[in-house]
Amino acid sequence: MDIQNNIHRINKTIRELESRYHRISNAVTLLAITKKQSLETIQTAIDAGQRLFGENYLQEALPKIEHFAAIEPALEWHFVGPIQRNKTRKIAEHFAWVHSVDSMLIAERLNDQRPTHLPPLNICLQINVSHETSKSGIAVSDTLELARFCANLPHLRLRGLMAIPALQPTLPLQRQALHPLTVLFDELRQQGMNLDTLSMGMSDDLEAAIAEGATLVRIGTALFGNR
Ligand SMILES: *Cc1c(COP(=O)(O)O)cnc(C)c1O
Repeated sequence: MDIQNNIHRINKTIRELESRYHRISNAVTLLAITKKQSLETIQTAIDAGQRLFGENYLQEALPKIEHFAAIEPALEWHFVGPIQRNKTRKIAEHFAWVHSVDSMLIAERLNDQRPTHLPPLNICLQINVSHETSKSGIAVSDTLELARFCANLPHLRLRGLMAIPALQPTLPLQRQALHPLTVLFDELRQQGMNLDTLSMGMSDDLEAAIAEGATLVRIGTALFGNR
């Protein structure tokens, strides 16, 4: 695995796809998903210029965050995994972003537990766009209510939406799976919500996600190989 080369290659691909799908250049940010990856691997990615990292298990993430806090202070850590209610305090204390908020209870706990010396915690609401296959995420029909609730919490900053659709075999089907999230994002903005982040797209549906309007893609395997 030539991680540095992969980082450069994926960034180049993202720029090409932005252009192909008439997106504004640099509209899409790369979040490197480092679950199950070592400190050395993460350091290699940092040396290639990567600054945004995503983790989905709290216990695995905390030692990594601690390790890099002193030596690489410019990193930004995103929590992208399922949230158990007894983990919200540590998440609120150690991350800059949480992509997987899917209930008022979790939002309220993150808000109450966010240390006041830190800026508000950036959050995305996780939407369940493939009902058959996924248990996490909130239903499309419940999103506006949760968005309004979160927008009023002073220690959270609602930035947008996230989804992990069931993987489809072709580009058109992948776009179709992601499209409801794009529609919902536009609807919430039309309702006056100040959202700027559409977190969708992984290694296998990167192109579909950029075509559908992703602003932040979460890439693991294509950077670091199979886990
Ligand atoms: C693991 C993971 C990713 C990255 O998936 P790849 O297919 O390895 O690119 C993205 N988002 C979430 C929430 C993940 O858990």
